[in-house]
Amino acid sequence: MSEPTERVAVSCPACSPEAETVHEILRNGGQATVRCTACSHVHKTTIERERTVDTEVIISQDGESFSSSVSVPADEKLAVGEEFLAETDEAIMTARITSLETADGRQDEARGEAVETIWSRAVGNVSVNVTLHPKSGTRDDTRSLKLQVPGEYEFTVDEVDEIGGEEFTVEGLYLRDDAEGYQHEKLDHPGDSAVAKDIQRVYARDESTSAWSAW
Ligand SMILES: [Zn+2]
Repeated sequence: MSEPTERVAVSCPACSPEAETVHEILRNGGQATVRCTACSHVHKTTIERERTVDTEVIISQDGESFSSSVSVPADEKLAVGEEFLAETDEAIMTARITSLETADGRQDEARGEAVETIWSRAVGNVSVNVTLHPKSGTRDDTRSLKLQVPGEYEFTVDEVDEIGGEEFTVEGLYLRDDAEGYQHEKLDHPGDSAVAKDIQRVYARDESTSAWSAW
């Protein structure tokens, strides 16, 4: 019985000096000994490995915060808006970076190694703020509520949603600062849509009251 052989892609001085071929690692180390699987040539080479660092991460969800740690590439840039998987005691959560704390204060972008704390919010499941105004009547009758939906749940202007016992027609979508890929901060044209994790607040026309009055 032998351990499964670790493989790596490096160039082979014998058969392929320009392009990488698959090599088996015979002995690991700063100067590793490898064998080309194409021509069986054995040689020494330096294997580049991505350096990672463990960084503290704070994940907020519905007013609560969880602390955890994630492994991030030391030399790569992290940026606000990027998403990653974080493991907490409770669950594995998808989170989006909202701020990066470094020795120089909070930044929108920083090298992994320079980040002391990653501030983030959970986007796998989110609660969306909804302001409902009645179909008829005065604006004073508006209601505000929070609805729990998957982060990828899509709201579309002029479409009817039925969530948590509420029925409403979306009229406007206010987006969060960290939402990317949209033309405007506020969407209010029929057909405009956004996913729940990008939305700060949904403005909608209450349809549930008229449904009741039909009886
Ligand atoms: Zn070779």
